[in-house]
Amino acid sequence: MNFKIYGNEGSKTLISNMIRRSREPHSIIIHGDKGLGKKKLALWTAAALLCEEGGGEPCGRCKNCRLIAEGTHPDVVTAKSGEKGNYMVDDIRPIVSDAVILPTEGRMKVYIIPDLDRSVVTAVQIQNILLKLIEEPPDHTAVILTAASREVFLETILSRVISLAALPVTDAQSAEYLELYENTDPASAGEAVKAGRGNIGRCIDYLAGGLFKNGADCARALARAALGRREYDILMALSQTDSSRALFHECAVLFSEIVRDSMRIRLEGRTAVTVGCDEEAARRMSTLFSEEKTLALYDLVCSYVRASDASCNLTLAINSFAAELGEYFT
Ligand SMILES: [Zn+2]
Repeated sequence: MNFKIYGNEGSKTLISNMIRRSREPHSIIIHGDKGLGKKKLALWTAAALLCEEGGGEPCGRCKNCRLIAEGTHPDVVTAKSGEKGNYMVDDIRPIVSDAVILPTEGRMKVYIIPDLDRSVVTAVQIQNILLKLIEEPPDHTAVILTAASREVFLETILSRVISLAALPVTDAQSAEYLELYENTDPASAGEAVKAGRGNIGRCIDYLAGGLFKNGADCARALARAALGRREYDILMALSQTDSSRALFHECAVLFSEIVRDSMRIRLEGRTAVTVGCDEEAARRMSTLFSEEKTLALYDLVCSYVRASDASCNLTLAINSFAAELGEYFT
């Protein structure tokens, strides 16, 4: 990897300035949606802390920077979670005991614990184990936690960390990033940028035909069917997700973003900044419902996002979601 981070100037400047003033941050959380580059920002921060040039940002050339880029630096440890994203206590305890030992290569040791929010069962327990390290970190350690939102963090943690938000970039920056890919034709790149907006991870997934691409296709078909008041097409759009809980979840999340965008457009007018994968559908939806009804629709969609996380019967969920949406849009 290289250390170029698109956008997010505020976060980079904050970290760089702290390092230049020899006030290295020891506990950092990075929050933001999937695909916004939280892990990349965590590695950028690790390299900035360990770079031999000491300029407050990674030079990309020194030994420490190169080892971090290769993922082989002995003093930069990324915690591994189980298959479903849950950290076990035994994944985290060794970090706390290892933190007292001095670094081998660099001047600091950096522990990165990604996606804490995916650790549904043990997130609180894990934070309690880390609390002492975060309260009284040795001079030579830094801990970086990432999560989709700040909500997963305990107050006792939040009050002791530097909090960085991974933010969307501009469409031009997404396009510039995609241009770096070989064999990307401009038309596909343009389509990916339009769907993924400022979320570079989503743009890449769209190009690769991954979960985001399939979820976006479903969510757009669903929005168009709902706006056209075609009940049968609503069911057909949702039925495409019948084989995969992950796809149903992605589709519901992306549809909820379209509804949220429609609310934004309703409140803020034409200049509203939208994030979803179908701005045109959001604009059409914004003229359809009152604020109150849009909020109720948003709540309805979110209840199916949550249902897809739980162990609901997928076919039943799809059928009742289709029926409820059909009623909404008639
Ligand atoms: Zn360097």
